[in-house]
Amino acid sequence: MKINGSHFDLVNDDKPFVGAAPMPPGRGFFPEDMTRDALDAYVAQHPAQRTALYDPFTIVQRKDESLEAVPYHVAYKDFLDLMAQDLRDAADLSDDDPAFGKFLRLRAAALLNDNYYVSDLAWLDLQNPKIDIVFAPYETYIDSLLGVKTSYGAAVMVRNEPESQKLAMFQKYVPDLQEGLPLAPQDLPSKHGQQSPMEVMDAIYRSGDLLHGYQAVADNLPNDPRVHEQKGSKKIFWKNFMDARVDDIITPLAQRVMMVSQAQMTSGEGYLDHTVMHEIAHGLGPAYAHVNGNKIDIREAIGPQYSALEEAKADVVGMFCLKWLIDHDALPKEKEQMFYASYVAEIFRTVRFGIAEAHGAAEMMEFNYLTEQGAVRVAPGLGGVYEIDFDKIPAAMASLAKELLEQEATGDRARTEAWFKKYAVMPPELSALLAKTTDIPIDVDPDFSFNPPVTLTAPPPAPPKMKDE
Ligand SMILES: [Zn+2]
Repeated sequence: MKINGSHFDLVNDDKPFVGAAPMPPGRGFFPEDMTRDALDAYVAQHPAQRTALYDPFTIVQRKDESLEAVPYHVAYKDFLDLMAQDLRDAADLSDDDPAFGKFLRLRAAALLNDNYYVSDLAWLDLQNPKIDIVFAPYETYIDSLLGVKTSYGAAVMVRNEPESQKLAMFQKYVPDLQEGLPLAPQDLPSKHGQQSPMEVMDAIYRSGDLLHGYQAVADNLPNDPRVHEQKGSKKIFWKNFMDARVDDIITPLAQRVMMVSQAQMTSGEGYLDHTVMHEIAHGLGPAYAHVNGNKIDIREAIGPQYSALEEAKADVVGMFCLKWLIDHDALPKEKEQMFYASYVAEIFRTVRFGIAEAHGAAEMMEFNYLTEQGAVRVAPGLGGVYEIDFDKIPAAMASLAKELLEQEATGDRARTEAWFKKYAVMPPELSALLAKTTDIPIDVDPDFSFNPPVTLTAPPPAPPKMKDE
């Protein structure tokens, strides 16, 4: 219950683990029997209600024959009043960081009126905060009916100072990395003078959406395009969650499917650095596709394969950039093999989830390209496990980076579709190998030292505070 927030197993196709009724696609956002067709038909008859019913911050309820949109701040008032008070109390304790205190007060107000814009801007204004929080309904993943209703998620985070400083070093090189990519300069818009906040944090507590289902190791928030336009977004890397993923999943998995000496090279550091570079690399490469002399949106040009292409580009360009930093003495040469081993080990974790999802398709394609190039291969005489050829992998990553960047720059949909059709396929020998690893967990279940019991109803309001408390 704690990790699923419901009686449906979120890491196993939402199957019920209590009772047999399947998960309603509209969760608690809509009446249980609501279908998309029924909602569309209703909205067609009641166009004036459309905005309210589709609003990210309302739940839809049936009232006699009609539907009614109830704002979150009304529907969940009993919970939100208490949360807002907690945030204001925390703000009172934030004398050493007035910007953080200001943000907490604005966020408290936002919880009570469902307008997060101003507090999101204040959140992005924080400068290297020692303590930070995520506290809002941001993501829409669990609304399978419309994909618009947000769910509340929270994390309390403490800045990981040494890793955050290393991140600042990576960011300093962003303009040079962009110029160093294997693509024509006219397709590589300058990155000078552009920076959005990035934090490496340890999450000491998570709740709501951020606790349920797969445990995120990185995030990019908020999602409001108005905030993106004005201030960008904040990229957060959760170091303690990454370490848990590496220790409990990636390394044990690597020890079964990779040559032991290479499996031992995988590390939390390699995983964090690649994840950071992956996020940075999402912002590198061409900004537009050139199709018949016109500048068009890359997503639009590529079509449905875009998400997988963009994820693959971030992975591969990210690895290309780590190698670039080593070659330019910004990172020590002795880390090179650790980076490649950690990257390949992560591929084995991701492709376990299949290729239906963009990251899975991307990494399956990367794996097959690397094996085709001889950079990764079945190690002879070791029972089917894989080995990395450290001499061949840098050139293979560079040529793959060039291919993917060209696909984006040319917006060549047919080329991308043919590429993924050829490479994003599970090889039978890998499938057989992974079938022997089902005892290795697919995700971590966090256990916080601060662990309040799950309550299903709002606790009674706290007694009024005495002045001298
Ligand atoms: Zn990504």
